[in-house]
Amino acid sequence: MDIPGPSGKILVAGSGPAGLIAALGFAHEGFAVVLAGPEPSGKDNRTTALMNPALVMLDRLGVLDRIRPDCAPLKVMRIIDATGRLIRSPIVIFRASEIGEDQFGLNVPNAVLLPALLSAVKKHDGIDWRRTLVSGWDLGTDKAVATLADGSTVEASLVVAADGRASPAREAAGLHARTRAYPQSALVLNFAHHSDHAFTSTEFHTETGPFTQVPLPGGHRSSLVWVVKPETAEQLATLDDATLSAHIEERMQSMLGRVTVEAGRQIYPLAAVSSLRFARNRVALVGEAAHVFPPIGAQGLNLGIRDIVDLLETALKNRHDPGAPQALTTYDLKRKPDILARSSAVNLLNRSLLSDLLPAQMARSAGLGMLGAFSPLRAFFMREGLRPGSGFAALAGDLGHSRQK
Ligand SMILES: Cc1cc2nc3c(=O)[nH]c(=O)nc-3n(C[C@H](O)[C@H](O)[C@H](O)COP(=O)(O)OP(=O)(O)OC[C@H]3O[C@@H](n4cnc5c(N)ncnc54)[C@H](O)[C@@H]3O)c2cc1C
Repeated sequence: MDIPGPSGKILVAGSGPAGLIAALGFAHEGFAVVLAGPEPSGKDNRTTALMNPALVMLDRLGVLDRIRPDCAPLKVMRIIDATGRLIRSPIVIFRASEIGEDQFGLNVPNAVLLPALLSAVKKHDGIDWRRTLVSGWDLGTDKAVATLADGSTVEASLVVAADGRASPAREAAGLHARTRAYPQSALVLNFAHHSDHAFTSTEFHTETGPFTQVPLPGGHRSSLVWVVKPETAEQLATLDDATLSAHIEERMQSMLGRVTVEAGRQIYPLAAVSSLRFARNRVALVGEAAHVFPPIGAQGLNLGIRDIVDLLETALKNRHDPGAPQALTTYDLKRKPDILARSSAVNLLNRSLLSDLLPAQMARSAGLGMLGAFSPLRAFFMREGLRPGSGFAALAGDLGHSRQK
């Protein structure tokens, strides 16, 4: 079936978490939405740490209450330098209570998040979901036309490109991105442990990348993202449960006592994808179509949800033609600082872990050292980590306050 007339119509390409959230967000605001992409496989064992602003968006979409019982609050986040190098950083501890928050966010199993999003999408009358790939694009300044793999075509004012790291929509729009594979893969699994995690997540920085434990509900289970060389990830994944559990306990310095791994190990190869422009020719990039970097500091989908929030805000101000060139320029300018700052910080930190160069280690150690020792700086980073601009806003508030005294 052809859908005539692009006026105000939104085509979301991609049915991963970013695409599903975007489709729901636009439909929620009354836009006519076509979602193109296959039904997710349901085999994603990862968990996603979603910070409070991302949860606000999920709440707006009516999804938060459904997932909350299966998520664990993130109250404390610790960074431990476990590199064993000459120059090491002190332990840095971020507490949500230090910035007046009850929690930084929730650790959400993807096996809970995706079904909740899918169910909301299926129930929404404003979303026409075509469970197939987009096979071709015809992008002009006045409208976008997508040809789907089933032979139908869809015309839209705005294409939300949520079609992942290889993003065919991004390439068709001429928004070329640079892709770099890292010599790293993430081994992902869940494990039970003897001691209570007290809703604390610990990120150990090692010479091969981060080893990150994130709490799951109930106090005695956590998820793990262990970044190592690709060949090491393969070896670890084939170990028997007892041996792998012992390795994990050792890496965690027995902080959570005895470890028992659960079934369901998965490996994710790591890469960085960076683009310098985020919208053009009726296409706006969101999620991994716009940015990919290693899983350090739980940034990826949080940043993707901020893309969607900003795109929605721009579209609401250009409701008659949300994909018009001036609307896309506004979106591009809005997203650039946030995406470039997050991507460069994470990539830099990752490269400093892999680097044997003393200056890189010194810079990382000095940066984390300052964070650990100076609580206003820590508070600034925590606020910026949650909501870009809120660290500066709090600083401005503090300055204004002290001037009034
Ligand atoms: C180990 C690991 C841990 C992570 N932990 C966190 C975390 O704690 N917090 C956080 O915020 N982020 C985290 N991330 C990042 C987060 O997982 C990603 O940002 C997120 O999954 C990206 O979702 P997406 O929808 O943009 O892309 P994808 O999930 O890749 O979805 C893209 C979709 O597009 C579809 N598609 C592709 N081509 C087409 C086409 N031609 N037509 C239509 N559809 C198409 C695909 O089928 C797919 O469904 C982590 C990542 C990794 C690897």
